[in-house]
Amino acid sequence: MVKASGASEVAEGERVLLSLRHANPQLHLGVREARGLAEVAAEWIRRGVSAADLRRALTGELPKEGVRSAVGFLRHRLVQKLPAPVAAPAPVPPVSSTPVREFIVCEGEGEEHVFRPVGDEALCGPCAREANRAYWAARRAEMESEPDPLPWRERVAAIIESEQRAERGAEAGPPAVLAATRASGSVRDAGAGS
Ligand SMILES: [Zn+2]
Repeated sequence: MVKASGASEVAEGERVLLSLRHANPQLHLGVREARGLAEVAAEWIRRGVSAADLRRALTGELPKEGVRSAVGFLRHRLVQKLPAPVAAPAPVPPVSSTPVREFIVCEGEGEEHVFRPVGDEALCGPCAREANRAYWAARRAEMESEPDPLPWRERVAAIIESEQRAERGAEAGPPAVLAATRASGSVRDAGAGS
């Protein structure tokens, strides 16, 4: 079934086609011929062309040697002169403002292949994802290979040891950070408890 709106445009297109003979007898179409062209004529109307403009477009500037076949001539003209579709507001992507880039050769691994970059990237999408995956895998391996930080008790023991060394040693006194931890008392208590 054809939608009501589509059907009305086809009917209007057919009406225009059948009326052409009034403008010029060379453009006389039979009913069957007009029906055969009605669908493409309807496309003009869907693209915002009025019936009067469609009639003008089809009857204007006829060949000087005359029209041999009305249906052939009109079919050709309907297709050749079909205006560009009216820009629908919704599906136009915002990227249309940026110029379309040329294809470039991807710097990724494997067989040479090209892609159309969005920015100044040197890798196509799949290669970029692969490179990203490899990067994070390497980072993960790197982090796993790092030695664990000293456990809490060993860290405290190391502080106490260096503190005691400082007390035994010169008058310089402990570094500021040790002075601070000693003021809280926690380090000395932890050391005394063990
Ligand atoms: Zn690639």
